[in-house]
Amino acid sequence: MRRADEEQYGSVSIEERTKRMAAAKETRRKSKPNPFTEVQKKIASICRQLNIPEGISARLQVCEREFIVNFPVLMDDGSYKIFTGYRIQHNDTRGPAKGGIRYHPDVDLDEVRALAVWMTLKTAVVNIPYGGAKGAVACNPKELSLQELERLTRRYANDIAIIIGPEMDIPAPDVGTNPQIMAWIMDTYSMHKGYSVLGVVTGKPLEVGGSRGRFEATGRGCMICARLASRHLGRELKNATVAVQGFGNVGATTAKLLAQEGCKIIAVSDSSGGIYNPKGIDIAKAIGYKAETGKVLGFKDTENITNADLLALKCDILVPAALEHQIHAGNADRVKAQLIIEGANGPLTTEAADILHDKNVFIVPDILANAGGVIVSYFEWVQGIQSFFWSEEEVNQRLTSVMENAFAEVLDVSEHRDVEMRDAAYMLAIQRVASAMMIRGIYP
Ligand code: NAD
Repeated sequence: MRRADEEQYGSVSIEERTKRMAAAKETRRKSKPNPFTEVQKKIASICRQLNIPEGISARLQVCEREFIVNFPVLMDDGSYKIFTGYRIQHNDTRGPAKGGIRYHPDVDLDEVRALAVWMTLKTAVVNIPYGGAKGAVACNPKELSLQELERLTRRYANDIAIIIGPEMDIPAPDVGTNPQIMAWIMDTYSMHKGYSVLGVVTGKPLEVGGSRGRFEATGRGCMICARLASRHLGRELKNATVAVQGFGNVGATTAKLLAQEGCKIIAVSDSSGGIYNPKGIDIAKAIGYKAETGKVLGFKDTENITNADLLALKCDILVPAALEHQIHAGNADRVKAQLIIEGANGPLTTEAADILHDKNVFIVPDILANAGGVIVSYFEWVQGIQSFFWSEEEVNQRLTSVMENAFAEVLDVSEHRDVEMRDAAYMLAIQRVASAMMIRGIYP
């Protein structure tokens, strides 16, 4: 039992605490819309519009392989704790499955399934030769010591090792995981093989086969989408006001790169709350402050705001870059931004997206907006296999070119079919995966 639980549950017995924590988790789960059911409905509807055969639609609505592991970890106090981990491969028709690993206390099977489906669609929309997968461990990494985190990661890597590999399924960082965790996974997998396997994970540190530009790639892709969408809408990116929810890898990098483009970042937030300054926040310094203190609250020359207030701020561009379903039917009406770049996966519910489209808000959907990470992960994998590494400039140029092509293709479908960008991105992606499935046929 960790510090936060101690505070919440005081001196009740361990069994009672575990029961109460499970009940609280179940209540949180039931109060959220189910992202997997939502994406299943969306796939069914897009397949109908594209006249894709029923059998292909049915296959796309389920995950090909679902692997759950319950494993023990030795805690620093000498006790053992059981953790639940997942690795789910949605579809590998177009190439090895690809997708991040999330460490978060609230993850569940349906959330990981939805994240795996989005990866299949993401790799297809930007046309890189991968399928989609996702992994997770239900844990709060902030409450684990470094040694506990390493033991948890190595045991999880050991347990999923039979279904991952450079030709099969390649994990990467997501919420709550980072390059160090990828290095431990790469090391554990390599120990099993007896030689170093660089291509088993991406998002690794540079010292063990990481790619230059990978850490910033997702945020860079979001910035490129903001630039392309502004150009399309005939608006200036320079001096645009921006609010960013989530100040981790994606949110902080997007804020930093948009500030470099001349935008005024008026608000940012993390799980502890948000900060606001209508004259603009010094993002480079805010990143340093967050690294030092663990939060953005209290940063100089800003006033504290809630995450709910941030989403409702008057600004030109809103970047939700935290978690799923932050904008929903209950708060979509309050959003005032005219351009939304979905940095996170699934930050808008279907109902919220409908409300915002009715208000003529231009939304760059997650499977396009945050694809920069998986694009540079693909570059990292290619560099690792070839043992030939590129300069940061080369990586960024290639990333820009893939993002620009994908944005133009999605916009083209959107204009030709008269659908908004999300449906256009789903159409392009589903058509690509469905065509590959039909050409390959069904084994045996
Ligand atoms: P991260 O762990 O680095 O950062 C997440 C941030 O969100 C943290 O600052 C956290 O405090 C904040 N946060 C959590 N709950 C919040 C809440 N309720 N309100 C406001 N802030 C909250 O994770 P990340 O890698 O930046 O991922 C963020 C999102 O982007 C996720 O949806 C992830 O799946 C998606 N994504 C990440 C990558 C990548 O390369 N890292 C690629 C594609 C998509």
